[in-house]
Amino acid sequence: MNRELGRVDFQINEELKLIVDTAKQACEPFDDAYWRGVDSQKRYPSEFVEQMSKYGFLSMSIPASYGGGGTGVTESSVVIEEIAKTGCDGGALRAQIYLTAAFNKIANQGQKEKYLPLIARGELRFQTFAVTEARAGTETTNIATFAEKNGDDYTINGQKMWISRVMESDLMLLLARTKKLGEVKKRTLGMTLFLVDLKKALKEGTVKAKPIDMMINHSANELLIENLSVPEENVVGEVDRGFYHVLSVMNSERIINSSDTMGSTRYLLSKAIDYAKMRVVFGRQIGQNQGIQFPLASAYAKLEAASALRFKAAWLYDNDLECGKEANILKYLTSEIGVEASNAAMTTMGGMGMAVEGGIERKFREMRLHIIAPVSNNLALSYIATKVLDLPRSY
Ligand SMILES: Cc1cc2nc3c(=O)[nH]c(=O)nc-3n(C[C@H](O)[C@H](O)[C@H](O)COP(=O)(O)OP(=O)(O)OC[C@H]3O[C@@H](n4cnc5c(N)ncnc54)[C@H](O)[C@@H]3O)c2cc1C
Repeated sequence: MNRELGRVDFQINEELKLIVDTAKQACEPFDDAYWRGVDSQKRYPSEFVEQMSKYGFLSMSIPASYGGGGTGVTESSVVIEEIAKTGCDGGALRAQIYLTAAFNKIANQGQKEKYLPLIARGELRFQTFAVTEARAGTETTNIATFAEKNGDDYTINGQKMWISRVMESDLMLLLARTKKLGEVKKRTLGMTLFLVDLKKALKEGTVKAKPIDMMINHSANELLIENLSVPEENVVGEVDRGFYHVLSVMNSERIINSSDTMGSTRYLLSKAIDYAKMRVVFGRQIGQNQGIQFPLASAYAKLEAASALRFKAAWLYDNDLECGKEANILKYLTSEIGVEASNAAMTTMGGMGMAVEGGIERKFREMRLHIIAPVSNNLALSYIATKVLDLPRSY
């Protein structure tokens, strides 16, 4: 992909084509039957994650000098889209891709040298990012989890909500307050990011996880954090400026997650198109009816526009340029298009859309998540309204 400033080039080069083909091959054993199985058992798709790790997709965003694939968010986003397009659930692996991309920007040299090679070799999984709290929710500056300095260590106490892949990760990037709200000039100050040895904390009981039962197969948990000790050397970025570092993580998260959503949308559209050509009602293919074809065409048209925006957002991110506007617009659009395409696919499939066997109802449920996480669409719109259009804030 051409990253020269001022030039636009959407051509995917031979190297990336090869990576994409390899990704498709690696996904072949994980067909609809496999995903139906893990979905009905509500279990983590560990075989799939192992396979993706073996092929290097979990470490593709890690620089080659640390043993990773050395791709930018641009290339990683294309690969995650292809993985989701096969029907696989990118939710199980996308976090390590955006977390390592952001860690590489925020962490100091010593931290990168210590952790990135281990993550690249698959010896450590870095799949957990803990920000949300029950009482803070969307209002991140309201978090109450507190890290108190004791000599060379921090002692952390608090709770987190909706934290994904806790049991499947070795490391957790955690946001905690290091100054109380009353002690800071701005609400966005006084928060710090910590890299937590999650496996050790779970073993010692300083982090306790309670899985949340929900409408999709996604490993999310409520966390209780009690006297968790984290060495000062595990502070990621600047003390008290964690909120600003989180924004960088969130931009890579938005681009990677949106690409995953786009892949799932393509999967839904392709299933619906195949069915629309095959199913005959009133003596003709249902796909001949504009009531069936227009919703599919409409979702496809919007998807292609969002895909172009994805390349812009990813290109800005990879060139260390501000991309908050593009990442938020992309997140908003792709999640809305995903739901639109799920509805269109459901309509196309008629009763078959509801059957578990078809694979559509699973994606239909999964697509709903993207409206609310990693940031709710209302908040993405609020960002566009206030930060881009300069309208007054609602809160
Ligand atoms: C399956 C799943 C996995 C998740 N994984 C993680 C994770 O790994 N790590 C993590 O940190 N978090 C995670 N989250 C949390 C997710 O980021 C939050 O759910 C999301 O940010 C919304 O927060 P909330 O649920 O507390 O909603 P609330 O903040 O309670 O908001 C509820 C509703 O009110 C709306 N609202 C609130 N204020 C306004 C306003 N001013 N204007 C307009 N509308 C408003 C919101 O948009 C939302 O629709 C996950 C969530 C889910 C469901």
